[in-house]
Amino acid sequence: MVINGKCHCGNIAFELEWKGDPVEIPARACGCSFCVKHGGVWTSNPHSRLAVRVRDAALVSSYLFGTRSATFHVCSRCGVVPLVTTEIENHLYAVVNVNALENVDPSRLRRATADFESEALEARLARRQRNWIADVRIAVGGPAADTSPATLTSSSGLNEPASHPHLGRRGIGA
Ligand SMILES: [Zn+2]
Repeated sequence: MVINGKCHCGNIAFELEWKGDPVEIPARACGCSFCVKHGGVWTSNPHSRLAVRVRDAALVSSYLFGTRSATFHVCSRCGVVPLVTTEIENHLYAVVNVNALENVDPSRLRRATADFESEALEARLARRQRNWIADVRIAVGGPAADTSPATLTSSSGLNEPASHPHLGRRGIGA
């Protein structure tokens, strides 16, 4: 199935191609200090494909803290955080915010808590390589926005990597 999501104003939108038609979608309420304040609840599937469309990169704020190994992509217009990315060995991985999903019945979400605050950086990166979405494309600009004309600059730390699937499902732990 294709899962759609976006921030509130639509500046950051994504399509997540999830193999098959999952009865349950994992939803991890992350216990890190950022996610607690934001109510961040995340999902990923290492066998899924994520296509992100950013209309105006100037309106995306990249937020890093702690180990600075994960980038929270915050829409600076509406404040929603639709995705988090991490770059490991020149490969981009991502998780998406279940609160930003548009077409998923909430009863499908299998909610759990996840706390990785005590996890060492090496273990953290290995876990993300296993569990996060490994096929991530981020495009900037594109189809007419409901706001101002799109710009085609890619200046906010967004990347376009290749694919490399792995197994598992966990949370963020920035
Ligand atoms: Zn927005």
